Amino acid sequence: MKILVTGGAGYIGSHAVRLLEKAGHEVWVYDNLSLGHRGAVAADRLIVGDLHDRALLISVLREHWIDAVMHFAAFALVGESVTDPSKYYHNNVVASLSLLDAMKTVGVRKMVFSSTTATYGVPDKIPIAESQRQDPINPYGFCKLVIERALDDYAVAYGFGYAALRYFNAAGASPNGDIGEDHTPESHLIPIVLQVALGQREQITVFGNDYPTPDGTCIRDYIHVDDLAAAHVKSLDFLEPGQSLKLNLGTGRGNSVREVIDACRRITGHAISENVGPRRPGDPPVLVADASLAQKTLDWKPRYPKIDEIVATAWRWHQSHPNGYAE
Ligand code: UDP
Repeated sequence: MKILVTGGAGYIGSHAVRLLEKAGHEVWVYDNLSLGHRGAVAADRLIVGDLHDRALLISVLREHWIDAVMHFAAFALVGESVTDPSKYYHNNVVASLSLLDAMKTVGVRKMVFSSTTATYGVPDKIPIAESQRQDPINPYGFCKLVIERALDDYAVAYGFGYAALRYFNAAGASPNGDIGEDHTPESHLIPIVLQVALGQREQITVFGNDYPTPDGTCIRDYIHVDDLAAAHVKSLDFLEPGQSLKLNLGTGRGNSVREVIDACRRITGHAISENVGPRRPGDPPVLVADASLAQKTLDWKPRYPKIDEIVATAWRWHQSHPNGYAE
């Protein structure tokens, strides 16, 4: 298939591009490079453009005979979405609708959409199954839910076929060590802990150790970025007009912040100094996927089910690219 990957120069998108190409698809990346990195994709596959530019989107979809779109381009920081919701509504909702309407105009009706566990809000039950109530508690989660709902309606009215893949915590890097996670500023746990190991930061601050969990720190389901990418490639086979697929992508196992820091100590061999700070607003104590539906539907299984394996690939990337793509 010919696939347009929005946000393909970003962290998860760039890993998906790799696997799509490996699977034999023709891939075009559409990215405004506001957060993405030129170095993360091949120059001859990159179209620098904005999702708000519907005329450009329409011409790209036509010119390259695109069959399906993978839509990664989005802002993805929960805290920032609370302090600057306008940025999130404009980029994650308005720009996404611009993309859907460009697709409708051209007759491209297949989409794999990056959704999120944040659409569930504070879950009633752990592990979280797809059938649980979606009741987001921040603008980031709400914006993603709006697009899931829009896709439902576009499926009924215009025959869109789509997969909404609800990610848990993306982590790790390509085992080749040449693409990986590079956010400025960095806010995610594993890259920050590894920056301490590299001597780029003094210590890691644990955001709260008084949660109702065995060691008092938050538990998350860390899923390797290549496992996420593989599920995207597989879900392409399920895109049928008028059909929707909503799947959690996680390992089904949780690790606490403290367990992640310990894994980083084991893998890097560095002591890694830590301190405890206040809770980060908006952090539910435990988010772990019931990923059985994705496993069954897609015949997919994470290749990196253990946190040490995930951290090892991230460490390879951070060691070889201590300044990310900036070198
Ligand atoms: N976290 C932390 N210190 C940090 C960054 C993150 O204790 O400097 C915790 C955070 O509170 C959460 C977990 O690590 O419980 C994962 O956070 P991250 O920002 O990596 O991903 P999120 O869960 O927000 O998508």
